[in-house]
Amino acid sequence: MPAPHWTPDEFRRQGHAAIDWIASYQERVADLPVRSSVRPGEIAAMLPVSPPAGGEPFAALLADLDRLMPGISHWQHPSFFAYFPANASGPAILGDLLASGLGVQGMVWATSPAATEVETRTMDWLAELLGLPDRFRSSGAGGGVIQDTASSAVLTALVAALHRASDGMLRRRGFDRPYTVYCSAEAHSSVAKAVTVAGVGSDQLRRIATVSPGGPLDVAALEQALTDDVTAGRRPALIVSAVGTTGTGAVDDTVALGALARRFGAWLHVDAAWAGVAAVAPEFRPLLNAGLESADSYATNPHKWLLTNFDCDAFYVADRVALTSALAENPEYLRTAESDAGAVIDYRDWHIQLGRRFRALKLWAVLRHYGPDGLAAHIRDGVALAERFAAGLRGDDRFSITHENLSLVCFRLTDDDATGSATLDLMRRVNESGRAYLSHTTTGGRAVIRMAVGTPATAERHIDDLLALLAELR
Ligand SMILES: *Cc1c(COP(=O)(O)O)cnc(C)c1O
Repeated sequence: MPAPHWTPDEFRRQGHAAIDWIASYQERVADLPVRSSVRPGEIAAMLPVSPPAGGEPFAALLADLDRLMPGISHWQHPSFFAYFPANASGPAILGDLLASGLGVQGMVWATSPAATEVETRTMDWLAELLGLPDRFRSSGAGGGVIQDTASSAVLTALVAALHRASDGMLRRRGFDRPYTVYCSAEAHSSVAKAVTVAGVGSDQLRRIATVSPGGPLDVAALEQALTDDVTAGRRPALIVSAVGTTGTGAVDDTVALGALARRFGAWLHVDAAWAGVAAVAPEFRPLLNAGLESADSYATNPHKWLLTNFDCDAFYVADRVALTSALAENPEYLRTAESDAGAVIDYRDWHIQLGRRFRALKLWAVLRHYGPDGLAAHIRDGVALAERFAAGLRGDDRFSITHENLSLVCFRLTDDDATGSATLDLMRRVNESGRAYLSHTTTGGRAVIRMAVGTPATAERHIDDLLALLAELR
C-alpha cells in the first residue's frame, strides 16, 4: 500500500521531532569537529544505491542524518572561521520553515500579494537599517528585491547594464560591438562568471590591478582602461566596485568609480556581499556606504553575516525601470489585471528566474526579532572578536598580519618562503585538528590564512583557543 500524505496531526508530530533534532544539534555542535574529514565517496557509500521499495518512516531519515554527521562541516560551530560566515538564527530558520509551510509561489503580485508586499517593505526596512541612500527605496524610482545569491545579483546588474549601454537594442539585435566590464583583480569570481553567462566574452572583462597586493582597485588604471576601450570603439557597460573583497576585505573607492561610471556612461554595481550588512552599525557607514549615491545597483548578503539562513541576497537598483525593461516578458498566461494596470510590483521582472519563494519571511523574522540594536551588536561582536585575534597575533612575532578589515584578519608565518608553503601547511594542520576551521587566499603570489569571525556562538574563549592552537602547531 502506498504511504499516505501526512495529516496535519502527523505533520505536527513529525515536525516537533525535526525541531527537536535541530535544537539538540545546536546544543552539541560546539563539541563536533568543525570541518568534515571524510574522503570523497565515503558518504555516498553509506547510501542505498536504489530508492526504498516502499515508504519509510520519517524517523529513519532523522536517524540517517545522525549517521551522516561526519560528512557535515559545521558552519554554525563557534570555531568556524573559514570563507565568510553563513549565519543562521532561530528566527530565520522558523521564517524559512513558515515560507515552506505556506508553499506559495510569488512570481507575480496576484499569485500571493503578501509575498510581494512584505518583501518590498522588508527591503525598504533593510535599506533604512543600513543607511542606504533613498534612491534604493521603493518610494522613489528604485527599490530592492531578494535574489538567491550575490552571483545572481551581479549577473542581473550586467544584463541591465548591457541593455542600457545598447540603448535597449541588445534585446533585439544581440551584440553589435564589444561591450566591456571592469572590476578589481581582487573582485569575486562571480563577476567573471556573469560575463561568461551573459555572453559578453572574457576578453571583454578588464581585471584592473590593485594599488597593493590584496588592496583596493587602482583608479588611475581603471581610467586608463576605460579610455583605451572607448578609443578602440568598445562600449563600457559595467563597472563593479567591490566593497569588502572576498580575499582580504579591501574596499574599492566607490566615489571615484562612480565619477568614472558617469563620465563613461557605464552602470555602477556595488558588490558588498559580505561587508555591506555591517552598516547596521552606523560607525561603519562612512567606510561601506561612501559613494552609493552614484551607484546604479547594490548587493549585500544577509545570508553571510546578518543572521539570515542561506539563501538571501538583497539587491537594490536606483532605477527599477532600467532593470525591468531589460528583463520583462509578458506571456498571456501570466497576465493579470493589476499588472496590466501597472499598479503592482511583479518581481518576476527583477531577476532571471520566474518562480520565487517567500524568502522575505526569514529576513522579516530576523529584522523584527533582533531590531536595529541587536543586529548592530552582532556585527560589533564579530569585529571586536577579530580585533582580539589580531591583538593576540601581534603579540607573537612569528606571525605577520597582512590585512585586517572588519571581522576578517589575514596573516601568515613571518619566516616563510615566497609562496607561503609553511603558512598553508599550518592551516592544514589546524583544520585537521577539528578544533577550528580556517581558509586561505593568495596576495601578491603568496599564501595567507584568512580568519573571518561571524558565527553568533563565537565567544572570546574560542578566539583564545585558536591563538593557543596556532602557537602549539606553528
Ligand atoms: C561571497 C561573495 C560573493 C558571492 O556570494 P554568493 O551569494 O554565494 O553568490 C560575491 N561577492 C563577494 C564580495 C563575496 O564575498
